[in-house]
Parts: sequence; structure tokens; C-alpha cells
Amino acid sequence: MTSSTTTKMSAELNLQGISKSYGTLMAVRSITAQIPAGKVSVIVGPSGCGKSTLLRIISGLDTPTEGAVAFDGEPVVGVPDGLAMVFQDYSRSLYPWMRVDANVAFPLRHLPPAERNERVRESIEAVGLKGKEKLYPWQMSGGMQQRAAIARALAFRPKLLLMDEPYASVDAQTRSDLEDLLLEIQAKLEITVLVVTHDIDESVYLADKVIVLSAPPSVVAETVEVDLPRPRDQVRTKQDPRFVELRAHVTSLLRGGSD
Ligand code: ADP
Ligand code: MG
Repeated sequence: MTSSTTTKMSAELNLQGISKSYGTLMAVRSITAQIPAGKVSVIVGPSGCGKSTLLRIISGLDTPTEGAVAFDGEPVVGVPDGLAMVFQDYSRSLYPWMRVDANVAFPLRHLPPAERNERVRESIEAVGLKGKEKLYPWQMSGGMQQRAAIARALAFRPKLLLMDEPYASVDAQTRSDLEDLLLEIQAKLEITVLVVTHDIDESVYLADKVIVLSAPPSVVAETVEVDLPRPRDQVRTKQDPRFVELRAHVTSLLRGGSD
């Protein structure tokens, strides 16, 4: 954990030949990928292809059977400094006995109170939860809880933000709002973001780079550079012929075709 107040920090992540077996099951095989600093990368793949496994390995919560992860040029051996993770299951990512503001402040407990309070205020406002600071998680909808989890990650100002299907269980409107919020804050803080999703539209909409995984034992089917302009727009971007083309390409890769 860092106490730096620098807002523009980011770090590159390198996956070097990662394989992971659970007994006789090989979940992922020889995954090599570069996650560039200050950009949004998305891993997309079918359910069960090892996306969560990869994120656990990247975050130092699990170890690969083979291969290594480097973060900022340093091998990942434990949970790296400057990392924040948003899990898929928001109902388990917040502390139920803490109000929203206390949840968001929790990773900042080593900061001086004035700076901590300012960051909490700022990130709660950024996710649209102003006025809800004193609610408990169980008093909020799923979308609001996920916003609070995102506010906590952002208040920490991570160098690397990992998100495991962060919007899988919120309604469509909340989902597009949270996608846009992520892009807005990422552009402002220039953090390195890695999102995992099984949603093809979401992968292309968010990403600078989409890493497409095959069915298990999963390999990288292809890495697709997304050259769509930013800032993106839910309507305009998705109507762009280039978006349609990229989405068709990713879809075909996921079906096992080459195009
Ligand atoms: P995804 O997130 O893409 O849905 P996971 O990484 O959760 O995929 O799982 C990939 C494969 O590894 C699945 O077949 C899953 O059942 C298996 N798996 C994941 N975690 C474990 C574990 N701790 N022990 C045994 N098998 C696991
Ligand atoms: Mg998963």
C-alpha cells in the first residue's frame, strides 16, 4: 500500500507463460500477455475458461503452476503494492458492519485524516453516492453496492485496478453508467486497468486491448487492438462501423474461428 498523493501513476503488467492446473484439470495454459501501463485491457472468454484464476494469480492471491507475473518490472510474489481489486460478488466485497464512508476509508487508514476524508468525499461523489455515505451495504441496491466497491478502489488511487466481471449482476442502465464512470476516472488518473468479462460488447467498448481466451485449457486466441476514439459514447461508439467489425471479430474468435 502506498501513501503517495501522486495522481498519475501506472504500471505495466506482464504475464509470462502462465499455466495453472487444479489436480488434473488444466485451467489456463501458457498465457503470455502484456498489459500496458495507463491503458484499459480486457480479458474476454467463456465461463470457466480461467479468467478469475488469472486475476487471482495476477493479484498475488494464488500462484501459477508455471510461469510468472511481473508488475512494474518486479515479479509478483504476494499482493503487490498499489493494487486494487473489484470482485464480481459485490455482496461480499463490502464490510456489512461498516457504513459506505467507512468502507471507502478502510484502505486509507494509514493516511492523515484530512487527506483520507477528502479522498473519501471525492470518490463517493464520483460514483454518484453523495448523500448515501451513512448507509450500510444491506440498505443499498446491488448497483449501489458495486458503486461503493468501485469508490473504495478509486479512493485508494491504485496503480493497477483489477476488476472481475464487475458489472455482471447489475441492471443494464447501471452497467453502462458504471462502464462510463470507469473510463472517465481511468482517463483522469491514467491508471492501468484490467477488466475481466464474458460480455463481448463490453470488452470492445471499454478496451484499448482485448485479450481473447479460448475454451479450456485456455490459451490466448488473439490479442485485438481496439483503435476506437476516446472519449467513447454508449450510442455513438456502438454504432461506429469499426466497433461492429471488432465485435464481430471477437465473437468469431470466441466461436473458435479465425474470423
Ligand atoms: P472463469 O472465471 O473464466 O469462469 P475460473 O477461473 O473461475 O473461470 O475457473 C476455471 C476452471 O478452473 C473451472 O473449470 C473451475 O471449475 C476450475 N477452478 C477454479 N478454481 C478452482 C479451485 N480452487 N479448485 C479447483 N478447480 C478450480
Ligand atoms: Mg470468474
